[in-house]
Amino acid sequence: GAALVWFRRDLRLADNPALHAAIETGRPLILVFIDQRDRALGTAPGEAADWWLHGSLASLARDITAAGGRLSLLRGDPAELIPGLAREHGIAEVFWNRSGEPGIDVRDRTIAATLQGSGTKPHAFAGTTLINPDALLTGSGTPYKVFGAFWRAALRDLAPRPSLPVPQRLPMAATLPAGAALEDWRLRPANPDWAQGFHDRWQPGEAGAAQRLERFLDDALDDYADGRDRPDKPGTSMLSPHLGFGEISPRQVWHSVQARLAAGTGFQAAERFLAEIGWREFAYYLLHHFDDLRTANFNRNFDHFSWRSDADGLAAWQAGQTGIPMVDAGVRQLWATGWMHNRVRMVCASFLVKHLRCDWRDGMAWFEHTLIDADRAVNAASWQWVAGSGADAAPYFRIFNPVRQGERFDPEGRYVQQWVPELARLPLRWIHQPWKAPAITRQTAGLKLGAGYPFPVCDLAAGRDAALAAYKDMKTVS
Ligand code: FAD
Repeated sequence: GAALVWFRRDLRLADNPALHAAIETGRPLILVFIDQRDRALGTAPGEAADWWLHGSLASLARDITAAGGRLSLLRGDPAELIPGLAREHGIAEVFWNRSGEPGIDVRDRTIAATLQGSGTKPHAFAGTTLINPDALLTGSGTPYKVFGAFWRAALRDLAPRPSLPVPQRLPMAATLPAGAALEDWRLRPANPDWAQGFHDRWQPGEAGAAQRLERFLDDALDDYADGRDRPDKPGTSMLSPHLGFGEISPRQVWHSVQARLAAGTGFQAAERFLAEIGWREFAYYLLHHFDDLRTANFNRNFDHFSWRSDADGLAAWQAGQTGIPMVDAGVRQLWATGWMHNRVRMVCASFLVKHLRCDWRDGMAWFEHTLIDADRAVNAASWQWVAGSGADAAPYFRIFNPVRQGERFDPEGRYVQQWVPELARLPLRWIHQPWKAPAITRQTAGLKLGAGYPFPVCDLAAGRDAALAAYKDMKTVS
């Protein structure tokens, strides 16, 4: 019988435990990817992530073909498709990597049981994260809720095994499922092609991921501790969509960084960078142990918080038309490239949930729709972190001032100039707060507030006071 490998968000050949184990059996292979289109399970991504998926599958299919194999693209409910394939193609064993998402893992266990019942052996592997969430608990057997303690405990035992090699040859079964042509799935926008700006910036797939990592280690790692906060500079790895689609594993990243450390790269920078990989681990860990992380406030006191339903404010925020330059620059970077710098994600999210007092779940949903790196665990954990409702969250009363953030982290105004060209000719002194510029200065810079660029949708001081008052009310109730 054949061995079936079910690819999911692990679109790579190297360090792929499921693929590796299937090859080790010596059986002929059947390689499938199933497009599930199930919004309830969150397995149908937003359109930006769809754009990425297209490129990632194209790349994986090419790499598989180069190794003598073939990837079959199927669409439907895996709970029916996988057992069906097993029957039709006389499959002896099925291999996949666990997703790390509770809802999906539960479904997969049902599939495993069905397979077992009909004499096919299922095998699920850990491939998404470094840490086994069930094995890492506090002394009293409960999950960690504070990142520092979590990561220290994780690092004590963390000894990732070496990355698995790229298979050289993929011997295929004699008959393969027919499958669709990737183009027929129409994952990329055609008319209009709003993803123009994505093409120049990203190379989805395993080779693109490896290049991105190498370039980061060569050019930016040493300065990461400071560089990571500067949205006007290429100071971070931009690996998030690659990690999200599993084109590179956290284990591969880990070992590459360790190799640089051994070669004498700045120790603190590496530690800082690996801690960000740690935050990704923490997000998956939280979702594993608290499976309503995406829908419910981790800190239940926030159930009493008076979110406003501000449709106009939300729409202005989504359009990058709030009149607050750092916020608009971030949202426009997101529209144009499918990605936003982490510092600016925090500024944008904080403005939405604090100054505008919109529910973090609205912001989360919008990010999920527009980010190429939309990740159900990380996105939820990050929004709750900013909103103050999360595990080990930023305290609610610490409210980012987007003007101050701009002056500090975009000190030359270049990030705003790039993404909000309406403001490009404004002197640096005003670029983060154009409404304060004298009329004559605005005129000289060709800026018409209210016509070319909006007035702020909310007065920053008043918005801040209202947020603090709402927080105080919440604490009185809860
Ligand atoms: P680097 O700084 O190079 O970090 C390396 C890797 O570490 C990242 O690729 C990512 O996998 C992980 N990482 C970095 N920062 C964080 C963090 N704060 N939390 C968890 N993991 C992190 N990241 C996503 O991948 N998907 C999301 O949907 C997502 N939503 C977010 C929503 C909000 C409101 C905020 C504040 C952050 C969100 N992040 C999300 C986290 C972070 O902004 C991105 O991972 C990061 O900007 C990606 O850029 P990079 O790869 O250059 O990061």
